[in-house]
Amino acid sequence: MRSYLGIDIGGTFIKFVFKKDKEIQKGKIYIRDIISKNKPELIINEIKKIIEKHRPDVLGVAVAGLVDRKTGVLTASPNIKPLEKFPFKDELEKTLEIPVYVENDASLAAYGEYLYGAGKGSEILICLTLGTGLGGGAVINGKLLTGTSGSAMEIGHTTIEIDGLPCHCGRKGCLESYVSSYGLERVYYLYTDQKISSTEIITLANEGNVTAMKAMERFSEYLSIGLMNITHIFNPDRIVLAGGITENYPAVVDMAVSNLKNKAFHLPFRDLTVKRAELKEFSGAYGALGYAENEGK
Ligand SMILES: [Zn+2]
Repeated sequence: MRSYLGIDIGGTFIKFVFKKDKEIQKGKIYIRDIISKNKPELIINEIKKIIEKHRPDVLGVAVAGLVDRKTGVLTASPNIKPLEKFPFKDELEKTLEIPVYVENDASLAAYGEYLYGAGKGSEILICLTLGTGLGGGAVINGKLLTGTSGSAMEIGHTTIEIDGLPCHCGRKGCLESYVSSYGLERVYYLYTDQKISSTEIITLANEGNVTAMKAMERFSEYLSIGLMNITHIFNPDRIVLAGGITENYPAVVDMAVSNLKNKAFHLPFRDLTVKRAELKEFSGAYGALGYAENEGK
C-alpha cells in the first residue's frame, strides 16, 4: 500500500496530512520565525523532518503564491519571501528522493474541500479562502482548474474599484484589498479611525459591539460583489468559503448570500449553494494529499 503526504506551506505554519491504508494523521509546525531568517534551506529542513517521520511514497505541496506549472518554480509569494524564485519541485525531489507535486495553496484548498469536505459531489466548485490574502480555486467536473501557466483563479486580484485601496500585490482596488484580514481592518478603520487587528474586530462583533458588526456587514457587501462576479462567470453549483474570517464569524456568509441574492441574476443564483469549508485550516493540506494521490498513482 502506497502512502501519501500533503503539506501546506503558509506564512505562519506548515500543516500536513499523511495517509496510509486509509488512516489519516495530521499536524502543524510553526515556521514564522524560520521564515523571517530568509533562508529557504531552513524551511526545506522542516519538510525533511516530516518526511523522515512518515516516509511517504509521494509528496504533494500546497504553497502560497504563483507556481509555474511548467517548471515547478514558485515565481511570486508575498507571504513567504524566502521561497520566491525557489525551484521547488526540483529541489525537493533531489533532497527527498520521492516524486513531488506542487500547486498553489488556494487551488489545493478547493481540491481538498472537493475530495474530503464541503465540496463533495459538486460539478462546478469554486472555493475562496479569506485569510491574510484572498485566494481562489476551482474544481470543474473533478478536475482542478490550473490555467495555462498555473495561475488561474487569482480572484483576489480582480479589480472592483478604480483607484481603490492599495493591495499587497501593488495594484489598487483589488477584491483582496477589501475582502481579507487586512481589508477588514481597513473597513473598520473607515468607521472608527481606529486601527485594530481583524481578530479583535471579529471578537468585538461576536460580543455584539455595534461598530464592529457594522464593519462586518460592510465587509460582507464587498464579499458579495466577489461572489456575484464568480456566479456570473462560472455559474457554479457550489461556492465554499474557507479561512479564519468565515470560520470565526459565520454570520458573514449569510449576510453575503442575502446581498448576493439582491445583486446576482436570478437563474444562476437559483442553482447555487454557498457553504462554509469543512476542513478548517487543513483544506490546503488535504488538497495537497489528494493531488499527490491522483498525480502520483
Ligand atoms: Zn491585488
